[in-house]
Amino acid sequence: MYEAVLTAGQIALRDEARAFVRDEVPRELLLDMDAEKIYYPLQYVQKLAHQNLLGLRFPKEWGGRGLDWSHEVLVLEEIGVLGASLACLYSLPSIIGEALNVFGTPQQKEKYLKPVLAGKMTVAEALTEPRGGSDFFGATARAVREGDAFILNGQKRFIVGAQGADLFLVYARTDAEAPSHKAISTLIVERSDGLEVQHVYGLMGTRGGGTGRIYFRDVRVPAENLIGKENGALDVFNQMMIPERMTSAAGALGLARAALEIAARYADRRKAFGQKIREFEGVNFKIAESLTRLDAARALVHETARIIDKVGNSGYVRRRVSESKKFATETAWAVVNDAMQIMGGIGYTNVYPVERLLRDARLMMIWTGTNEIMNMVIQHEYYKELLGTPTSARDVEADAANAEVDGEKVYE
Ligand SMILES: Cc1cc2nc3c(=O)[nH]c(=O)nc-3n(C[C@H](O)[C@H](O)[C@H](O)COP(=O)(O)OP(=O)(O)OC[C@H]3O[C@@H](n4cnc5c(N)ncnc54)[C@H](O)[C@@H]3O)c2cc1C
Repeated sequence: MYEAVLTAGQIALRDEARAFVRDEVPRELLLDMDAEKIYYPLQYVQKLAHQNLLGLRFPKEWGGRGLDWSHEVLVLEEIGVLGASLACLYSLPSIIGEALNVFGTPQQKEKYLKPVLAGKMTVAEALTEPRGGSDFFGATARAVREGDAFILNGQKRFIVGAQGADLFLVYARTDAEAPSHKAISTLIVERSDGLEVQHVYGLMGTRGGGTGRIYFRDVRVPAENLIGKENGALDVFNQMMIPERMTSAAGALGLARAALEIAARYADRRKAFGQKIREFEGVNFKIAESLTRLDAARALVHETARIIDKVGNSGYVRRRVSESKKFATETAWAVVNDAMQIMGGIGYTNVYPVERLLRDARLMMIWTGTNEIMNMVIQHEYYKELLGTPTSARDVEADAANAEVDGEKVYE
């Protein structure tokens, strides 16, 4: 029981979130979202706010609980059992709240962070553009300064909450000449006339979260809605990628856990060849494999949470966060896929929710930075550590019999 390493406060919070997920989220909501009868579950977000479950890490002054990542990941795992859409809507105040909490002025926190955590305003993150999401610094949306405002033009796509959100955190180019990493700014944009949303996608899963395409046409954004420094999006982006990726990582644990439990219970009841299928090695080894992967992913996510709580942000934190996102989402995919296999044909039908969880799990390896981009960050930060810091560890390379033979260690 991993409870053994949790504090009483963490267990209480985990149980609070578990009770919310069990009692406050009707199955009709999940079904209607999946059937796209609902485009944005406002009441769900408001209920979370009412329970003071949004933005747990932010100071009480703004409506949070002043907790840390070690707490938030526990709640995220519980919310994750609801699937990717509701987990994402839960996470958005944590992601956008991070930008406001770390870089926002007291006025911005009062005007935006407080009402977001109170469920009076809803938020979306507008980062990805039609020309690409991975190459964030290639952003082409433009915000041109005109007196005390920016005039915003451009497009964003795949934005969860495009339908339904009151506020958008938008990254836009504010310097046409400077190199990209010094040319982009972060703005809070309120829904207004020049902002048009189109619901254009049929999604494989993760439905009902208002995902859409946004067009900004001469949208006037007050200069006071600039988050951080003008052309300073690099810092905001690096900070926001912590919650962006940690929420995916921790949410994936819950989704995988839910699918595994369904499959394990099924295997204990379903019979073939006169015995329970869980008695076949081909089945029970899948359960063992899934459980081991899931525990390993949880351990990685929890340790990363503790590291962020101690260190804040750094290259090492970026590596660990990326590892957590990659490993937890790949684990979720493998676990849900095996859960479906264990259940045979019925797992592929909507008699069990495993097929919906599978459709959701697939996205998790793509969004909040693809897992290829996670690999890019992981190896990049590792090389900075490896080559940038002298080591106090044993020189193992010298432990070969012919380690000192000249002329054999050829590199070019
Ligand atoms: C349902 C859904 C919801 C989403 N929600 C949001 C949201 O709320 N807000 C938001 O801003 N975005 C959102 N996204 C966008 C998502 O984050 C992007 O789709 C993702 O970052 C990838 O960007 P892309 O689709 O443009 O793919 P591309 O960037 O075009 O990448 C295509 C492929 O090339 C690979 N690739 C690209 N560059 C490299 C590289 N350097 N090395 C190796 N491989 C590389 C990628 O890994 C990928 O496999 C959402 C997407 C979906 C589908």
